Amino acid sequence: MSSDEQEPVKTICPYCGVGCGIQVQPGEDPGDMRFMPWGDAPVNDGRVCIKGGAATQVVDHEDRLTDPLIKEDGEFREASWDEAYERIVSEMEGVREEFGPDAMGFFGSSKTMNEENYLLQKLARRYGTNNVDNCTRMCHASTVWALRTSLGAGAMTNSMEDLMDEADVLWIQGANPAEQHPIANSNYFRQAVLDGATVIQVDPHANKTTTSFDIEETERHQHLQVEPGADIPLLNIVLKTVLENDWVDEEFVEERTEGIEDLRETLEDFDKEAAAEECGVPLEDIELAAEKYANADNAAIFTGMGMSQHTCGVDNVQNEINLALITGNLGRPGTGVNPLRGQNNVQGTSDVGAMPNVLPGYQLVDDDEAREGVEDVWGFEIPDEPGLTNVEITKNIGEQIQAMYVMGENPIMSEPNANHTADLLDELGFLVVQDIFMTETAEYADVVLPATTWAERGGTVTNTDRRVQRMRGVQKVHENTKHDLEILCEVGTRLFGEGFDFDTPEEVFEELRQVCPSYHGMTYDALGEEGIHWPCYEQGDEGDQFLYEDSFDTESGLGHIEGVTHQPPKEVPDDEYPLILTTARLEEHYNTGTMSRRSPRLNKQYPENFVDVHPNDAERYGIEDGEKITVKSRRGEIEVEANVTEDIKEGVIWTTPHFATASANVLTNDVLDERAKIPEYKAAAAEIEVG
Ligand code: SF4
Repeated sequence: MSSDEQEPVKTICPYCGVGCGIQVQPGEDPGDMRFMPWGDAPVNDGRVCIKGGAATQVVDHEDRLTDPLIKEDGEFREASWDEAYERIVSEMEGVREEFGPDAMGFFGSSKTMNEENYLLQKLARRYGTNNVDNCTRMCHASTVWALRTSLGAGAMTNSMEDLMDEADVLWIQGANPAEQHPIANSNYFRQAVLDGATVIQVDPHANKTTTSFDIEETERHQHLQVEPGADIPLLNIVLKTVLENDWVDEEFVEERTEGIEDLRETLEDFDKEAAAEECGVPLEDIELAAEKYANADNAAIFTGMGMSQHTCGVDNVQNEINLALITGNLGRPGTGVNPLRGQNNVQGTSDVGAMPNVLPGYQLVDDDEAREGVEDVWGFEIPDEPGLTNVEITKNIGEQIQAMYVMGENPIMSEPNANHTADLLDELGFLVVQDIFMTETAEYADVVLPATTWAERGGTVTNTDRRVQRMRGVQKVHENTKHDLEILCEVGTRLFGEGFDFDTPEEVFEELRQVCPSYHGMTYDALGEEGIHWPCYEQGDEGDQFLYEDSFDTESGLGHIEGVTHQPPKEVPDDEYPLILTTARLEEHYNTGTMSRRSPRLNKQYPENFVDVHPNDAERYGIEDGEKITVKSRRGEIEVEANVTEDIKEGVIWTTPHFATASANVLTNDVLDERAKIPEYKAAAAEIEVG
């Protein structure tokens, strides 16, 4: 049969958390597959952004790993699968015998599917450790923490559909959907604005979102250009303005919340004028935004990594929750607190338990009843103490950590203070990396396993608004590569003999839904082409587009309000490093760039990193637009081109983490939020050198 006679395959874009449906036309030669629109795809109606349209470009890339590799005398050589498995099993057994199971760290990945992450965390726990984590830690761990403890579930409270139809105000803080979730912005946010919604954007950087709505600023669009790390004072001004003007939804607060007294007390002596100075935003602009949000019929908050990636990340998001709760903007369509999740499956990777403190369905590992329920299905004991997060795993190399198993992640690029991470990986006793390319991290591995890409295998992913969708494999490109699921089953079986005997993703999903209450009612058949928004507790349930209609999933059933106070970033400008560095992503690239830097169409737009510098700073330092400059922090330095622009505030510089030759993460600070353990990527002290 020629390729044109073969049916195109409906699957999901492998890039961001919007979860757009796409079709792929199989090629006559393996790998020669083509992107096709999926006209009536549930999330995107056939539209895609530049990344989605280029998604097939990396599948048959010449850099694909095609055979297992083992390092000997510092050089990689090809090996058989059997030899690679034997090496992994003997090293893992040796580490456990000599140092105990907590000497191993496991990295799941949001680039891989629910079934694969489920198996990886099961493998870690069968090995005897809760040291398993995923890249949620780097993006929204703080958001998940705040939402879970104050409302009940660590996820978007609403869905894109109900938000577009019902929201009158979109409050977008620390997120740039036009760049990072382009189809959410064009299909949903822009449509809501065309239908009359107001946008309030809080961000230190003017960006594509700022200009995407084609409406006059101040009329129905305000951009509050806050200083990096000053989100708590800004929201405290908003909260105090709501309290002062009696814009509180008294009935909602009385019946459905607890803790407003604590908020009132926290804000009693709060000085709004002084706080506005700290924010770098005129007080009247913030008060106007407060008035619009509080007096809307339905107002929705969207929160991004500009909020979560701080040492006060949990408190930042708690303050957004405070605002939604005191104004009664939760529990109905068009409202809520909605994290825009980064990767295609970052929501699902956490849902299925690839985190050190929770089992599938966010059941706490130290909750005896929950743990025993999972043990009954798995047939082995699960350790009852939370394990290390991924940043803690790398920080503990050479001490507690002797070996790591990394599936689809690239910590040397994704973790802060990258030079230090590289030094630590150099010292690690044993490293397995399972990936599609020789990543910067894989270069440090002892064994590299060639996995298949998104287009070659099936499974499920959970997008940013809790919609679980099926991905379907198109064609396998390289004979000797294996699906992540096959690899994990083989490693698990060789290590433990039983518990990993699955032939298909559907078989794994059937076990997953037994131990994950919010997925319990889903089957592959029921997911169909539309997918289902969790929670879906019983077969036949259609899932929930929005959460908390009647009560919150907290112990008391009430939404938790708690006053928070300003905590500046751990590094602030001084004489040696007088600038604030902040970071963000580009539409054309994707996180550590493993795929997007290899996609000709994407890389053509931005082949190299750059740094945004305000014209006044450029003049002070004598920088010409386009000139190569050195940006330094206490942790390292990178050489990048200067982009002189008024999009950034004076005294602040902005760059990206996508490029191996000059990554923002050489500069970023590895200090963590105490509770969620997320690093402070969004604010570090920096300096520029010219010439
Ligand atoms: Fe893919 Fe996200 Fe673009 Fe949709 S918006 S096509 S999911 S990258």
